Amino acid sequence: MTQAVCIKCGAFKHGGFSPCGACGFEPDTETDAAYSLALTDHYFPMEILEEISASIQGGRPHPTLPPHREAGFREACRPYLRVQAKRRAQMAKARRADE
Ligand SMILES: [Zn+2]
Repeated sequence: MTQAVCIKCGAFKHGGFSPCGACGFEPDTETDAAYSLALTDHYFPMEILEEISASIQGGRPHPTLPPHREAGFREACRPYLRVQAKRRAQMAKARRADE
């Protein structure tokens, strides 16, 4: 299972795109999704993730990537965001149908 760090609260969770069990945060913008994908054990060793986690829990923002690497992660998370956007649109439609 992928170990990931929540970019909002620093808690560890399973999978970069899964909702955070601690704060409920779920990435829905390209930047948030890009960093949620980056802060996983696919890209960083656990000891670095633990440092990042501690730093975010200490109130600091998540670290930023060099622009060319950030662009790569943005690209990689686009399919996920498309699925997410579709799911949201369906949920909105279902809500309208209920009213
Ligand atoms: Zn969180």
